[in-house]
Amino acid sequence: MSLFAFTKTVLGSMVSKPATRMYPFEVREAFPGTRGSIAIEIEKCIYCTLCARKCPTSAIVVNKAARSWEIDRLRCISCRACVEACPKDCLSQLTSYSPAVAIKGGKDFFHHPAPKVAAAPGAAPAQG
Ligand code: SF4
Ligand code: SF4
Repeated sequence: MSLFAFTKTVLGSMVSKPATRMYPFEVREAFPGTRGSIAIEIEKCIYCTLCARKCPTSAIVVNKAARSWEIDRLRCISCRACVEACPKDCLSQLTSYSPAVAIKGGKDFFHHPAPKVAAAPGAAPAQG
């Protein structure tokens, strides 16, 4: 490349707009159907554990007794198996990705309190 062509390329690059986006300040809109992170509507969950059993990477842990559902986002490979397995349609796949994390093993934890059960007439009040 001649010096003239080189200088022209350098000057052209200096005055033209950048070829890449200023991520993370400018985020590209996701394409439809992008396999992003898994979301849950925890109030619809019946803690049947089907999603956890179908997950090929054991990213989901369901605790029926504690009424909790958690996902390790670093284990998830966005295969969508859990979404398709859920009988209550409470799982969905977003088109956005999970935010970056610095610590391995962090989990997103969801918990839905047990519904209040009316006490039977004459029953002793609950302790605790
Ligand atoms: S999308 Fe796949 S890997 Fe991720 S939690 Fe669901 S089943 Fe597991
Ligand atoms: S399959 Fe659906 S209803 Fe069952 S535990 Fe998973 S999220 Fe909850």
